[in-house]
Amino acid sequence: MHEAPEIHRPQPPTKPGCDRAKSSHQTQRRRGKIPDVTVVVARDSFDTLFAALARRGYECVGPTVRDGAIVYDRLRSPEDLPRGWTDEQAPGHYRLHRRNDEALFGYVVGPHSWKKFVFPPERRLWQLRRGDQGFERVDEPSAPPRYAFLGVRACELAALGIQDRVFAGGEYAEPHYRDTRAAALVIAVECTESAATCFCDSMNTGPGVDAGFDLALTEVLGDEHVFVARAGSDRGAEILAELPTRAATAAELDAARAGVENAADQQQRRIDPEALPELMAASYESPRWEQIAERCLSCANCTLACPTCFCSDVEDVSDLTGEHAERWRRWDSCFNPGFSYLYGGEVRKTTASRYRQWLTHKLGSWVAQFGSSGCVGCGRCITWCPVGIDLIEEVAQLRGAQS
Ligand code: SF4
Ligand code: SF4
Repeated sequence: MHEAPEIHRPQPPTKPGCDRAKSSHQTQRRRGKIPDVTVVVARDSFDTLFAALARRGYECVGPTVRDGAIVYDRLRSPEDLPRGWTDEQAPGHYRLHRRNDEALFGYVVGPHSWKKFVFPPERRLWQLRRGDQGFERVDEPSAPPRYAFLGVRACELAALGIQDRVFAGGEYAEPHYRDTRAAALVIAVECTESAATCFCDSMNTGPGVDAGFDLALTEVLGDEHVFVARAGSDRGAEILAELPTRAATAAELDAARAGVENAADQQQRRIDPEALPELMAASYESPRWEQIAERCLSCANCTLACPTCFCSDVEDVSDLTGEHAERWRRWDSCFNPGFSYLYGGEVRKTTASRYRQWLTHKLGSWVAQFGSSGCVGCGRCITWCPVGIDLIEEVAQLRGAQS
């Protein structure tokens, strides 16, 4: 019998109804409580880190600058990291700027998320080839890629935790996701700055990390450019043991803690996750959906950028000779008209009904389905909406209509 590989599960976002004492304790941790055993890794030791990952057969993927954005892609060396870059974000707005320092992780999040590695945008599931005995099925290689995810933010750890429950929890796991995720090494980097679109602090998913990582780093740009580091697993501890480290000073720990506090304090957008399922259920007939639809392009950008959205379609293709056919899985979106197609037509024919489906599922019925909110407060859907539709503003409007 196949045993499910272990997946490091981050703390889920706060569930409605969980007690306040626990919630407050988690908030303190996410705001930068530094655990007892920490060391400092110098920025110059990143070459050693990359070499340690390569020796173990990991393909290092992480942030890099491409086409005017910080995206996640293969990193060949620390030189590929977005040294000295930061991002400016607002509804429908994203720009990169040069920083006046050499920070490696001085940005927040970009249009990509880690789901593109564990749940690729398109993936061939199998092929059929005609042979002497009829059609033969050819399965895809089962060995999962061996990724080291470098620069995972706290909200992204929470998003991976949500996708773990969707794809690898319960009786029917998605094998490619499960195996890729189990093989992946996660190196988290705590946020020390927030974008204007972030609201992880109120979702209790960031900006500090407290679980679900193999190694956690906090960048400190003081007299010396260092990273306060701590291991979260045996794998992480082994790698940390290979790096040149020294004990963190009290000043470095204070700076790391203050950086995470700073990121939390910068967040202007706030939301009350515990009240959202009730609000979403009560808003079914709200006229606000039609007002949003006057601006919404039904372009699906928000769902593609969202680190937790997981809908897909399956497509069969064959060549003209009739000798070869393939089955592909591709990301889909509840904003695509065909997504709700049943016999006779689409169930959700209007943009208003599609936006309502997305928001009420994400913030409301997701809780009953998977035990947590489907939102981790990363702000991507706000930044990457071409017309700047703002989930926080829409929730405020729906709440205002109820009161
Ligand atoms: S709904 Fe928006 S803010 Fe929430 S996780 Fe998805 S992209 Fe991020
Ligand atoms: S809310 Fe924005 S990103 Fe999402 S489908 Fe509508 S226009 Fe596109």
